[in-house]
Amino acid sequence: MSRKIIHVDMDAFFASVEQVDNPSLKGKPVIVGGRTSKGVVCTCSYEARKYGVKSAMPGFIAAKKCPNGIFLPVRYWRYKEVSNQVFDILYNVTDIVEPLSIDEAYLDVSNITTSPIDIGHYIKSEVFKKTRLTISVGISHNKFLAKLASDWNKPNGIKVINEEMVPEILKPLSIKIVYGIGKKSIDKLNNIGVYTVNDLLKLPKDYFIDLFKNQSWELYNRLLGIDNRPVHPNRRTKSLGRETTLSSNTDDIEYLMHFLSLFSKDISYTLKKQYILSKTITIKIKTSDFFSHTKSKTIHHYTDSYDEIYSIACNLLKEININDDIRLIGLSVSNLSDKKIEQLTFL
Ligand SMILES: [Mg+2]
Repeated sequence: MSRKIIHVDMDAFFASVEQVDNPSLKGKPVIVGGRTSKGVVCTCSYEARKYGVKSAMPGFIAAKKCPNGIFLPVRYWRYKEVSNQVFDILYNVTDIVEPLSIDEAYLDVSNITTSPIDIGHYIKSEVFKKTRLTISVGISHNKFLAKLASDWNKPNGIKVINEEMVPEILKPLSIKIVYGIGKKSIDKLNNIGVYTVNDLLKLPKDYFIDLFKNQSWELYNRLLGIDNRPVHPNRRTKSLGRETTLSSNTDDIEYLMHFLSLFSKDISYTLKKQYILSKTITIKIKTSDFFSHTKSKTIHHYTDSYDEIYSIACNLLKEININDDIRLIGLSVSNLSDKKIEQLTFL
């Protein structure tokens, strides 16, 4: 069955955030970064791009190309804050989100019945509602084509590349857009008159293999629009835990195990509800002299089972050699994985 992959990418992200935060910058050539002699441009607004300013360009060159450019310092914390709002929207759509950077991600929406184009419009309108910023959306059946699609009519674009459109849609494109072809290879190819995907497809097989070595097969497939790389979800929750300060200090193991049981139940419930599994169980205690002790165990499989978490936690508690009364006990699980993906790998 064909997959449904969405690639989303905020438009001129840092510069657009600055323009939203300070509306007097709207319509002006805003350049974020590159203010110092050694600095480089991080992002610039579309107005600045018209002058030939680009990301990663040294600031002094940008200043030459765009003398009336407004250079601003990088406010990373602010972009991160906006990025979190955007990712909240993406994670509302699906758990299978692979962030590529602060403003770019792949989503695998194959298991969602809503059409990907409706999901794309939903993401665009939610992002605009929450942040007043635009995001470009590309939809296709694999990552390579979805990313190509999001770039198609930036800014504020939405584009679908469906199976019937390939490989025809790829043939006239520059080889520069093909993920995995390095700059050196591009120069080499340009030198022998190869500029487009079609030119590259016509190259003699031996030359192709000689140039791309063990990457040849994958790259050749990509030129035909075939790309089987999965979307690797990067769970935001890194760990899940509960702890409590006891009403009175104690060394009563039974009493402490009672808390571990409550925590295990609560954690197991949350894991199941969120379709997450865990591999590492950690207990933490604080003694009456305020020392903290932690002990972890990583098991060979993923679990969300109360019984398993509880019994490992109890063993860990017994293994910690404490000669003092305990005032705080905590239990957490980490090394988390998405259950859906975990199950898929066993199919
Ligand atoms: Mg972007």
